[in-house]
Amino acid sequence: MSEEKSKTKQLKEELFLPAKKGIAAAAEDEISRADEFCEGYKDFLDNSPVEREAVEYSLQLAIENGFTEFEQDRYYNPGDKVYLVNRGKAIALAVIGKNGTKNGVRFSIAHIDSPRVDLKPNPMYEDNNLAYFKTHYYGGIKKYQWTVMPLALHGTVVKLDGTKVDIKVGVDESEPCFCITDLLPHLAREQAQKKLAQAIEGENLNVLIGSRPLNTEDEEGELVKLNVMKILNEKYGITESDFLSAELCFVPAQKSRDVGFDRGLIGGYGHDDKVCAYPALMAAIDTDVPECTCITYLTDKEETGSDGNTGMQSDFLRYFVYDLAKSDGEEGYRVLSKSKCLSADVNAAFDPIYASAYEPKNSSYINQGVIISKYTGHGGKYDTSDASAEYMGEIRSMLEKNGIMWQVGELGKVDIGGGGTIAKYVANMNVDVVDLGVPVLSMHAPFELISKVDIFEAYRAFHAFFNNL
Ligand code: MN
Ligand code: MN
Repeated sequence: MSEEKSKTKQLKEELFLPAKKGIAAAAEDEISRADEFCEGYKDFLDNSPVEREAVEYSLQLAIENGFTEFEQDRYYNPGDKVYLVNRGKAIALAVIGKNGTKNGVRFSIAHIDSPRVDLKPNPMYEDNNLAYFKTHYYGGIKKYQWTVMPLALHGTVVKLDGTKVDIKVGVDESEPCFCITDLLPHLAREQAQKKLAQAIEGENLNVLIGSRPLNTEDEEGELVKLNVMKILNEKYGITESDFLSAELCFVPAQKSRDVGFDRGLIGGYGHDDKVCAYPALMAAIDTDVPECTCITYLTDKEETGSDGNTGMQSDFLRYFVYDLAKSDGEEGYRVLSKSKCLSADVNAAFDPIYASAYEPKNSSYINQGVIISKYTGHGGKYDTSDASAEYMGEIRSMLEKNGIMWQVGELGKVDIGGGGTIAKYVANMNVDVVDLGVPVLSMHAPFELISKVDIFEAYRAFHAFFNNL
């Protein structure tokens, strides 16, 4: 009887999906390497809440590591490292391979924009002696999560004479911060009856920016607004009209923190998708002379559908590849047709508290390594690129060969919701692509959580992809 049982067990082991041990099977030194890697990540995250800052940070790091600005019509040697910035909001980094672009390129593409609260073009007003900025939220947010917390203002203003002013207020604790108020519970009986999505209205996401009137004898209105405008004018030389040519937004003011007694997680704003952008960036930096030219591309506008000239639907990356191809004497479209891509984006980690939203056999879990999503989209596999069996096979064997901790998963239960990534736009260029990224808890919240081990596995995955495929 017992012998029979052990044979059955053996057969199960041979034929069934092996149980994934995740972090429990990780060597201690791999965990300490992950912890070390995450110190660099936290610095990146804290300095890159918006895409322009993420580009700036990535650019500095790239330059320090030998990348130079790409020049058209120039021949590059294997091992050369070049970058190209798209309008200050997206950046491509290429490491020239032994075979150049002849056998296609290898892309790791992540996005560096995150959900937030943008200023309207005409944002400033005063109401009952309080000054506010009116906003229009950016990307998918649960609006109630953005009230009653310290916010910081980040962005760029272009003045009438063309000069540009960068604004960053509220990051340092010595600086003031900003806030969206909410109704006290004592008076919220009516609000509490509303649906979650309607309890806080988009038009009420107004950010409090001032409370003291200008000190004057004159009998004038809007003195609080005037006082704020005067402060802004003295500090940045801007007037109210300059908001028309600006990109300003509010993001959570707090810095990232280790989470849990064991410090296994990082809580912070914008893990989606800096938690993939940083390892993809580091993988390019740490790649010396790959077989095929490797490109890490950090793109903008993913959270609003990848439209616009800095989003993934723009031809920027395509043209960059064409230029690289040309310098190798190759045809751009042929290079793309032979290219492979990891669409480096996050997926929802299984949350035991909200277990009913997930299908446990096809969900990703914290501390189980990178998640591969064969497809994303929604109900009936709409709006997605579904990676082929062949490409899944290639990626799977690459991960196994390199001992990378990985898992597969979908975004929640069928028909419960959905979401997309840039994968489908990459696929449209006739490139093989699949989503590979880090599982996130509380995705799109002002304080998202990721595992230190998972992000390190993402780095290892992108590095292996650049150097082995
Ligand atoms: Mn994302
Ligand atoms: Mn997102």
